[in-house]
Amino acid sequence: MRQILGIIGGGQLGMMLTEAAKKMPEHISDVIVLDPTPNCSAAQAGAKQIVGDFKDKDAILELASKADIITYEIESGDSSVLKTAESKTTINPSPETLRIIQDKFLQKTFLKDNKIPVTDFVEITSLNDLREKISDFGYPALLKARRDAYDGRGNFKIKSEADLEQALNYFSGKPLMLERFVDFKMEVSVIAARNTKGQIATYPVVENIHENNILKMTIAPARVTKNVTSEAEKIAKETMRVLHGAGVFGIEMFVTRQDQILINEIAPRVHNSGHHTLQSSRTSQFEQHLRAILGLDLGDTTLIHPTIMYNILGPDNFQGKYKIPEIKQDNLYLKMYGKEESKPQRKLGHFNLVDRKNIGMEGLLESINLVKDKFRPIPA
Ligand code: AMP
Repeated sequence: MRQILGIIGGGQLGMMLTEAAKKMPEHISDVIVLDPTPNCSAAQAGAKQIVGDFKDKDAILELASKADIITYEIESGDSSVLKTAESKTTINPSPETLRIIQDKFLQKTFLKDNKIPVTDFVEITSLNDLREKISDFGYPALLKARRDAYDGRGNFKIKSEADLEQALNYFSGKPLMLERFVDFKMEVSVIAARNTKGQIATYPVVENIHENNILKMTIAPARVTKNVTSEAEKIAKETMRVLHGAGVFGIEMFVTRQDQILINEIAPRVHNSGHHTLQSSRTSQFEQHLRAILGLDLGDTTLIHPTIMYNILGPDNFQGKYKIPEIKQDNLYLKMYGKEESKPQRKLGHFNLVDRKNIGMEGLLESINLVKDKFRPIPA
């Protein structure tokens, strides 16, 4: 049966999901996205658009009445509204899974209860509570907003007792949690999928380099030992087994100095660190997500070629219309997201550099260093 796919969010992830959907006409007849920006990225890729806020109940219910199956590219949707919409249409991943994941405290509690390794954490309700509980963790420690935080904007690193009050005030009354600081040697992630029949597949573990808390570069595969690789993939599979609902999930992890793996957080959606799969794998994470929610067999996740994904971010010193110099290079795949304006640190596009000639990861990193600055957005 051909289905109409609804996506909450029409940014770059919605755009690449739409492009994958257009390649599956035997399963998906149409794509409708809900996004507040007229002519959003996904609409430019051919999706129909309902212009509205991600949390707008009427807009979500309108999407539910038009789509046979709904998914999302952002995790900040209102899970209770989605639960209401569930009586009208199928939603994957399930609103209940979303509810748990979008609250970092509930998410970590869920993982811990299922014996999946995470750093120590505790709920914080007041300054006195913080004062008391931080003594168990020592300094530094991370105070985090439980909800609606991404790209590190919801974190405050507490370096000493003198920071406590400022840290609490920074969040102006939002629900909070405290985490023990992990002295990690690397941040990695596993893109994992579970389909509606319970089949699970993981892509090889990749290494993520952040700058100012925003992903800058993903190195696939991660430069870790075989043991770390298999442990990360085992943990990702176990996480998928205990989570309900279907779809692709981005599972971010720390590798500690002792090579222990701890989950940092899970995104219930396709993930920036999975963009390399557009060129490095037979099945992109976007196709995989659609296969998972439609109940199709999952695709091959083998990494065919080592690949580095590099994010093109808006420069700090400029806001407005921009252009990207046109540079053609063998094995380099540029993907721009059709965003009209550059803003500081805004994700405008990415490129994948694929190692087809076996130059090795060091060679690939050298090539990245030679080309990355050429893709700097400039005022149009
Ligand atoms: P988050 O938004 O919680 O994923 O955190 C953003 C970034 O903060 C992560 O990518 C890490 O670099 C860092 N971070 C988060 N939690 C911890 C932690 N418990 N210990 C050390 N660094 C952390």
